[in-house]
Amino acid sequence: MTRTHTGFLSSERPRRVETGMSDRYDITIIGGGIVGLSCAKTLADAGARVAVVDRGRYTESASTGNAGMIVPSHIVPLSAPGVIAKGMKWLMNPESPLYIKPSTDPAFVKWLWAFQKHCTQAHVDHGVPVLRDSILASLSLLDTWCALPGFEGAGLAHTGLLMLHHGEKARQENLELADVAEAAGLDIERLDRDATLEKEPALKTDISGSVYFRQDARVDPEGLLRAMEAHVNELGVSIVEGAVSKLQKKGSSVVGVQVGDRILESDQLVIAAGSWTPQLTKGLGTKLLLQPAKGYSVTIPSAEHGGVDTRMHMPCLVTDEKISITPMPGGIRFSGTLGLQGYDLSVDERRAAPIRRHAARYCGAEHVAPLATWAGLRPASPDGLPYAGRLPSMDNVWVASGHGMLGVTMGPITGRLIADQIGGNEPTIDPSPFRVDRFD
Ligand SMILES: Cc1cc2nc3c(=O)[nH]c(=O)nc-3n(C[C@H](O)[C@H](O)[C@H](O)COP(=O)(O)OP(=O)(O)OC[C@H]3O[C@@H](n4cnc5c(N)ncnc54)[C@H](O)[C@@H]3O)c2cc1C
Repeated sequence: MTRTHTGFLSSERPRRVETGMSDRYDITIIGGGIVGLSCAKTLADAGARVAVVDRGRYTESASTGNAGMIVPSHIVPLSAPGVIAKGMKWLMNPESPLYIKPSTDPAFVKWLWAFQKHCTQAHVDHGVPVLRDSILASLSLLDTWCALPGFEGAGLAHTGLLMLHHGEKARQENLELADVAEAAGLDIERLDRDATLEKEPALKTDISGSVYFRQDARVDPEGLLRAMEAHVNELGVSIVEGAVSKLQKKGSSVVGVQVGDRILESDQLVIAAGSWTPQLTKGLGTKLLLQPAKGYSVTIPSAEHGGVDTRMHMPCLVTDEKISITPMPGGIRFSGTLGLQGYDLSVDERRAAPIRRHAARYCGAEHVAPLATWAGLRPASPDGLPYAGRLPSMDNVWVASGHGMLGVTMGPITGRLIADQIGGNEPTIDPSPFRVDRFD
């Protein structure tokens, strides 16, 4: 694709300019999770002088302890027909995969209203090609990035993914998904029990079959984040540790970002603050529909680390219980649950215990103490598609967020879309489904 010349392209190596307590950049990015760092890479690659501000990417970000699955298999948006009915049934069960804390907060009520409005077949028909094209484009970018020196720790492995089932209902659900995926041109296989165990002999449970998604892959999410951070540093990106306390506005632009007693000045601002994005866009004239959707992961050590003897190599998702199983360096990670319950990162035993029980069931890990039990907040939009566009009320503020359960998968293409739009280039894929004002 031809690249047009952009305002921020510079022939020199990107460098920040320090002027007293104020630093000047072309672009400031708030948020150093996978999405913020993906934006930083694509913008720095295009020649921009970039600063990333973050207050806790290894403590509060969703980008470290997640399941690390890169999932072309997830082309059906979360808001789909039947989800509301299933959610209502699960609400009665304290150990269910879905939890909604009742709330009268207007932002939450508005989000829920928009969510249920999108649980239609028409939305699925719209979302499937959008997600397929953007996820495959993202995977292709990730492939290119992970081939660079320094990305070995990201652990990208093109293993495919098994969508497992044991009960009849889950089998039906998987077969329906297989039909949708096949019609969308994905490479899949419907497997019976023996063929499933042949693909992944380490599985220790009663599985009646699976659907194999050949194009899916896996990474070590924390390894990827660390590799991205080191890489953007080499590209000249400044990583500023601290919380953004204030955005300085001038007319319809943000001209400065306050971090402690420092002011970062820049021509453009990208807000990639995950679940916290609405807190930053609040005073900027557009109400962003985004809610934190809490999830857990439990990592069980492998035999060399005093844990279970398992040689699992590919990620699996169990449709019956909605849990995922991903091989990680030094262990196996089990993830699941989706809680709409506000900004709460504490570990609730009632939610984590079922995941540990599944770990015991699927890997024979009854007596093994987990390496870590982790909770993270997925930034969820009401229609299951991310935001990657300009905030309509502002001239120079961009939002890269709302990826829900697809942030690792779609981080790279989001970065590219943001860089394309800021640079005024022909977009790599159509950015219109990711517009920030699509719910207005
Ligand atoms: C249990 C679980 C499993 C998952 N599994 C997968 C998976 O297998 N595949 C997949 O693709 N996705 C998965 N996800 C989703 C994925 O983790 C998220 O979509 C993704 O991490 C979001 O990235 P982000 O960069 O948008 O946000 P985050 O990673 O949350 O980063 C946001 C950053 O913004 C910073 N920040 C916020 N406010 C401020 C402020 N005021 N000042 C400074 N910094 C600020 C925070 O410190 C944080 O580091 C999973 C999520 C969970 C919870």
